[in-house]
Amino acid sequence: MRETPSAPSGPLTPLVDPFQRAITYLRVSVTDRCDFRCVYCMAQDMTFLPKADLLTLEELDRLCSAFVARGVRKLRLTGGEPLVRRNVMTLVRSLSRHLASGALEELTLTTNGSQLARFADELAACGVKRINVSLDTLKPDLFRQITRWGELSRVLDGIAAAQAAGIRIKVNAVALKDVNEHELADMTAWAHDRDMDITFIEVMPLGEIETHRADQFLSLDSVRETLSRRFTLEPLAMRTGGPARYMRASETGGRIGFITPLSHNFCESCNRVRVTCTGTLFMCLGQEDAADLRRPLRQSESDEALHHAIDAAISRKPKGHDFVIERASAAPAVGRHMSVTGG
Ligand code: SAM
Ligand code: SF4
Repeated sequence: MRETPSAPSGPLTPLVDPFQRAITYLRVSVTDRCDFRCVYCMAQDMTFLPKADLLTLEELDRLCSAFVARGVRKLRLTGGEPLVRRNVMTLVRSLSRHLASGALEELTLTTNGSQLARFADELAACGVKRINVSLDTLKPDLFRQITRWGELSRVLDGIAAAQAAGIRIKVNAVALKDVNEHELADMTAWAHDRDMDITFIEVMPLGEIETHRADQFLSLDSVRETLSRRFTLEPLAMRTGGPARYMRASETGGRIGFITPLSHNFCESCNRVRVTCTGTLFMCLGQEDAADLRRPLRQSESDEALHHAIDAAISRKPKGHDFVIERASAAPAVGRHMSVTGG
């Protein structure tokens, strides 16, 4: 991997969008492939992108480094399943140089945990301090139904290995009506008992799947109501610039996050952008507008064209999204799957 990307002529300025929001957080999908087929995320029979369309690990490194040079302080690798990308640790090792230099505050990932036992020690050695693990149930049979292909015990082993390596784990669970709805309080107690925060996510209308979204949708207002029967919930002021709001359960001392992209608007403080594994930059998870960064990456060894493309894209970052799940329409608000944009 290259040590330093070549810079364009002139100083590299921090990225600020038209609404004066500094862009300090980049999420990068390193693959659209996955070893699971979660029912809300993918169709059973997914067609994945041709390998040649994917950015190489070197290109991903160049792209991330360009954003770091423009003031991105937090980098999250996601997917698809980031840990099934071949040789992904080469990328993590290379990106960790930005942690060592102090340019990057945090290098992290969102994973389904299936490969975590294998990679936990190396991730910790690269300076990864926190990881989000997606886990929607603690019942092995239900886990298999939700993920179609997954094995719960592997994820639990992965979490244990990461914790043993000194990595903090946050559990992310998608709240699914009638599916894990009645287990969410037990999952909270389980997570807090193991010193993990837990965040609940509402289903978002991304990509065509077989099931109707409105049948899966469970409002987090209702989840909060259920949890408040078991825990005393104190609101926390903590904000991350993202869609999560946090509460503390007095009985456990642990935190509970609520990501409610549909019921509440969180866009005014948005500090993030997303890049797909093909180098498409999405300025908003809920809008179609995008910029191609693969062409400028491939067109020259220098990063000048890349920086120009990034500038042009950030100048178009919209004020917010307009997600709606309508009963009348089964069509998703946004055609791409979450596994393409990255969660
Ligand atoms: N494979 C990794 C994982 O599952 O953590 C990373 C990618 S996955 C797309 C990131 C997150 O998006 C997961 O927590 C997943 O539950 C969530 N997700 C996927 N599709 C979603 C949808 N339609 N609505 C809400 N969350 C979704
Ligand atoms: Fe794979 Fe993550 Fe999507 Fe599940 S949510 S299918 S683990 S990418």
